[in-house]
Amino acid sequence: MADGDMRSGRCGACGGGEVRWGEYVAQAGLRRPGAGKFGARKPVFDAYICVACGNTQLHLRLDAQMSSFIRGKLDRIWPQRGKG
Ligand SMILES: [Zn+2]
Repeated sequence: MADGDMRSGRCGACGGGEVRWGEYVAQAGLRRPGAGKFGARKPVFDAYICVACGNTQLHLRLDAQMSSFIRGKLDRIWPQRGKG
């Protein structure tokens, strides 16, 4: 896992070592920034929360349908050169 990935049990913001794991179910769905309503899916995220500082990291539970939905609806951010 990359540095900052809280699934390792370490907070990527404060470095704290107490990270708790829960589920976050989005009630309003997932959409492009600034987009109006559309047939949104209600994604389920694994949420990793640092109990020292509150930093939270969400990881979407992906399956083939959700991956396809995201690729069709959301803009891609291309990896930046010159970092890492
Ligand atoms: Zn923290």
